[in-house]
Amino acid sequence: MLNVGRPSRPGAVTQGHDLESTYTGNKALNLETPLIFEQGVKGRVGVDMRDPKEVKSRLGGLERNEEVGLPDLSEPQVVRHYVRLSRQNYSIDAGFYPLGSCTMKHNPRINEKAARMKGLGDIHPMQPVSTVQGALALIDDLAHWLKTITGMSAVAMSPAAGAHGELCGIMAIRAAHDAKGEQRTRILVPESAHGTNPATAALCGYKVESVPARADGRMDLDAFEAKLGPDVAGVMLTNPNTCGLFENDVKKIADLIHSVGGYFYCDGANLNAILGRTRPGDLGVDAMHINLHKTFSTPHGGGGPGSGPVVLSDALAPYAPVPFVVEEGGNYSLQEQVEEGAAKSFGRMKTFHGQMGMFIRALAYMLSHGSDGLRQIAEDAVLNANYIRVGLDDLLNSPFEGVCMHEALFDDSTLKDTGVTTLDIAKAMIDEGYHPMTMYFPLVVHGAMLIEPTESETKETLDLFIGSMRHLIEKAQTSNDPEFFVQAPKFAPRKRLDETAAARSPILRWTAPE
Ligand SMILES: *Cc1c(COP(=O)(O)O)cnc(C)c1O
Repeated sequence: MLNVGRPSRPGAVTQGHDLESTYTGNKALNLETPLIFEQGVKGRVGVDMRDPKEVKSRLGGLERNEEVGLPDLSEPQVVRHYVRLSRQNYSIDAGFYPLGSCTMKHNPRINEKAARMKGLGDIHPMQPVSTVQGALALIDDLAHWLKTITGMSAVAMSPAAGAHGELCGIMAIRAAHDAKGEQRTRILVPESAHGTNPATAALCGYKVESVPARADGRMDLDAFEAKLGPDVAGVMLTNPNTCGLFENDVKKIADLIHSVGGYFYCDGANLNAILGRTRPGDLGVDAMHINLHKTFSTPHGGGGPGSGPVVLSDALAPYAPVPFVVEEGGNYSLQEQVEEGAAKSFGRMKTFHGQMGMFIRALAYMLSHGSDGLRQIAEDAVLNANYIRVGLDDLLNSPFEGVCMHEALFDDSTLKDTGVTTLDIAKAMIDEGYHPMTMYFPLVVHGAMLIEPTESETKETLDLFIGSMRHLIEKAQTSNDPEFFVQAPKFAPRKRLDETAAARSPILRWTAPE
């Protein structure tokens, strides 16, 4: 008998007792599924085809002789396996997803409809350019609006995510210094930066120097100025920063970095907060990635495709990666090389032109909102975040005073002496039916809880979320029952996992039992 319902892996789901309280391991209609390899039965097939005719191999002895090692399954088994997994997943379409720094907003269905249109969904990047004029026009149109919204002169469309966009921006900065024959070695990064910023600078061969924050959560200008010198290639600043605060001195920072011949890279992942209100081009930014999958909706997370176009200033535009869409008299073509005097494109970031499906969704989102709608996105995102901040501020401490931008940040100081941690609150929120907020980031705040509601949530959703958080924090502060929290999540398909063991000794390969 095929053991579908029951988890048979040792230690897979057997912690606690409630999962074992049914014969199958299922909990009502929340169905368990073993690893797909465990379900395979030799000889079972999903398709019924004749054996292929013997043909002479053209691989000259390189053909595979042993089995591929994939499980043998029927089609319904495969379908059920993935549907069951998908039902254990949490998604923005199922509930509130307040993950700070991620901008998990609703993805309008009109975007999906546009992306699935035959003329867009069924084309291939290897098609002759004459047959994909509409697609190139769409990329050009989106590029136009990205430049308009940010007030920048050029945009590289191909980067595949935010971090990839950072790489693109820093490579352009290095190419610009190289063209001037300058060997600069340091990049300055504020303490509160997303981990991808220092990682990018290091990958490009720069020494990363951290700049501390002031008591108000902004980058310390004096410390920044003290670190400047002719060997500084640039600064990587997030604005609004990862504490959910606008860097008030951003123009001063731009002037200072330019005064030593460096460039200003702005991490634009939080553009959602300033859309239609502030243009990075007016703030002296030289390069900034835009996470289309955050600011302009488009699905993300779970390893889905992101898209991180990089807008560039006049100074960096000539070094941008290829290809570029060029329009001449209504005809679109792809420019594969950019050269202006000594300046020259640093090359390619990826095959083809970027994440076409995300481009379509982002443009649909922009056009369906219009300029007034885009501005309202930022206003509502900031309003919602402040609604949460004020709704919790008598129970949780905000480490920085005043209004926030698109996300509300709290520390764990009011949980001190309760035996309950930020992690415990997050796990208990799973029982309440929420994807937890971002925890322990930014690193500059002890026990950080970073909550980003986005603009697409209703007041009722925010009220229920605030109520749930208040319930748990009050429980932590008054009940003296840390055991309640240690047990959480009690109602999730999986209990609390040993995250340290999972990171230190991951099991990456399934081996059939002897
Ligand atoms: C999300 C994010 C990134 C990275 O973007 P990815 O698309 O996940 O690579 C970088 N910086 C900040 C501040 C972010 O929020």
